[in-house]
Amino acid sequence: MQAVSNRKHRIGRSSAGLGLFATKPFRKREYVVTYRGRLLPNAEADRLEARGSRYMFEVNTRWTIDGSKRWNLARYVNHSCRPNAEAVERKGPSIVYVARWRIKPEEEITVDYGKDYFSAFITKSRCRCVKCKERRADQQARRRARAKRAQRKRLKLRREKRAAAKRKR
Ligand SMILES: [Zn+2]
Repeated sequence: MQAVSNRKHRIGRSSAGLGLFATKPFRKREYVVTYRGRLLPNAEADRLEARGSRYMFEVNTRWTIDGSKRWNLARYVNHSCRPNAEAVERKGPSIVYVARWRIKPEEEITVDYGKDYFSAFITKSRCRCVKCKERRADQQARRRARAKRAQRKRLKLRREKRAAAKRKR
């Protein structure tokens, strides 16, 4: 185990519960953290997952890592649709996360959990990543702008109706 002071990340509060945050900068392609846990044959991992086990990381067509133990710091890495880290397979077999680009201190470390996980557990309307939050804020702003336009149109029509009624009199 590494000494705490040597660690380049810490566990902290994020918009999606707990998350892993950089405490020091990472260069592009730099190693961030290893996905640690016991290695299981995929069939056994499937059985455990069906019974509610989370944190199963399928490495290849044969092996899955059961990363449910708390000492597996990589399990705190949340999903993002615009992630700053990505999973890379290493010999062992094992999985490590590496930086996709420069990560600054205090930035949350995120990876893309993949299509299957996303559609089963997260979904577009509930994803709490920065990108989705921005997308939803944008949609809401557009909805508000549209509502305002519709309101102005209604007021205008009402004014025109009133003016027409006046002319008739
Ligand atoms: Zn998202």
